[in-house]
Amino acid sequence: MLEVITVQNDPDHILRRQAERISDPTSPEMRTLVAEMIETMRREDGVGLAAPQIGRSVRLFVIETAGRVSVFFNPNIVSYSEETIMSEEGCLSVPGEFSMIDRSKRISMEYQDTDGKKKTFVAEDFLATVLQHEYDHLDGKLMIDRVR
Ligand code: ZN
Repeated sequence: MLEVITVQNDPDHILRRQAERISDPTSPEMRTLVAEMIETMRREDGVGLAAPQIGRSVRLFVIETAGRVSVFFNPNIVSYSEETIMSEEGCLSVPGEFSMIDRSKRISMEYQDTDGKKKTFVAEDFLATVLQHEYDHLDGKLMIDRVR
């Protein structure tokens, strides 16, 4: 069972590191990690979980929205709309805190899927917010940095 790292308990500052690119998303090690992350996200009732949150400083996150799990390796947000939306966010690594955060309403993100294939994902509204939140984790940023 994986434990979620929180800001109160992060002795190695893993939540604040720039995560490493994953060379092979199809490796058995990555398959295991993805399965463990999905299990942990569900157990903790999260909408998303990024690898640094379970102590692995690699560029990977999982989300579950509308009953559907999606896995993103080496994501890169390539465009952000100027139009923004404010929504309330929480984070498994910042327990008990919910804040209104302003983010782009639409984004376009390139990533690799679990077969290592390059894909592009265009998201808006709630889904765009979730992706930007998880993406921030890979760059060592937390929602508390974005509170105005
Ligand atoms: Zn988070």
